[in-house]
Amino acid sequence: MKYDKCECGGKIIGKKVRVDFRVGDEIIVFEDVPVGVCQVCGERIYDAKVLKAMEHLARGRKKVIKRISVPVLEFSFAC
Ligand SMILES: [Zn+2]
Repeated sequence: MKYDKCECGGKIIGKKVRVDFRVGDEIIVFEDVPVGVCQVCGERIYDAKVLKAMEHLARGRKKVIKRISVPVLEFSFAC
């Protein structure tokens, strides 16, 4: 996968990372997703093809390998 330079001017390198992908009210976690990560600011760059593939997989749900529960907290300044 080829990536352009980051907005900050940093170099972007291809990595495989875990991605929390939001579909409606659900979070679907993908593992080993090829993304570009800026070496300077850490910004993740998603290729359009990768995003499309994730969307497709998220809708189809044919390749669910495991389910994990994700805690969802309402944000507040409690302290
Ligand atoms: Zn950057």
